[in-house]
Amino acid sequence: MNSSILGLIVVGVFSAAFAIEWFGGRIQRGPRPARDAAFTAMGILFQGTISGALIGSLAGYMVIQLWGDLAGSLSHIAFWKAFLFIFLVEELLHYWIHRSAHEWRWLWKIHRTHHSAQQLNVGVVYRYNIFWVMLLPQTWMGAFATYFGQGEAFVVAVLITFFTNILTHSNYRWDLWLRSKTPWATPAWWLIERVITLPDTHHAHHAYGKSAHPNGNYAVTLFIYDIIFGTAKIPNSRQTQYGLPISARLHWAEELFWPAIKKPLLPKPAKTD
Ligand SMILES: [Zn+2]
Repeated sequence: MNSSILGLIVVGVFSAAFAIEWFGGRIQRGPRPARDAAFTAMGILFQGTISGALIGSLAGYMVIQLWGDLAGSLSHIAFWKAFLFIFLVEELLHYWIHRSAHEWRWLWKIHRTHHSAQQLNVGVVYRYNIFWVMLLPQTWMGAFATYFGQGEAFVVAVLITFFTNILTHSNYRWDLWLRSKTPWATPAWWLIERVITLPDTHHAHHAYGKSAHPNGNYAVTLFIYDIIFGTAKIPNSRQTQYGLPISARLHWAEELFWPAIKKPLLPKPAKTD
């Protein structure tokens, strides 16, 4: 599979999911839908143009300097072995960088943009500060995997995390609906929700207040990493508040470009009730 087909799948699936939520009135539910949409558009624009190209070329340059004569040298390894290795390592590295972003203040300011959305929907998948993507293991691993001859295994891993992100950021709580239709499968759900991330655990990660767990549930796909490292919480219910208590006070330029642009918190909005 070449990169243009990968790009088409990603753009097509994201646009379809966004359209479903838009026509279902879900994108517009937040208090600031136009700002949210602009953030999503900026995220896509930066990932599509600057971040991917910059880190791709930087990582490409590094591999050539370090292992200049080893191009394609791992292509003999079976696809499934390579895929499992890439997927497990990428998810593990992502777990730790994501967890660090919630624990270290300077890294939190780069990740915070993803969490300031006051409503969860698929648009949030691409909502981030422009520097966040450059820090992600996936951005770097693509260049390494391709160089050593395992580009396809990497692409499959990327697609899995992409589909998971669409499903777990969805405004529709399809997990609660499915569970209500399959009460006989409760033991299976018990197991599934401990192995992979579902909307339940990821919505909790984006919420505050009731049924929330903002400082935990860090894994993209393999929730079992949260179980292993003691950061899991499974509320099995709906959340009522998303975003951050200070969401409305963050300046858009700092949200997108910190630390290149720093802005003070905006004044507290006047109470209307
Ligand atoms: Zn997070």
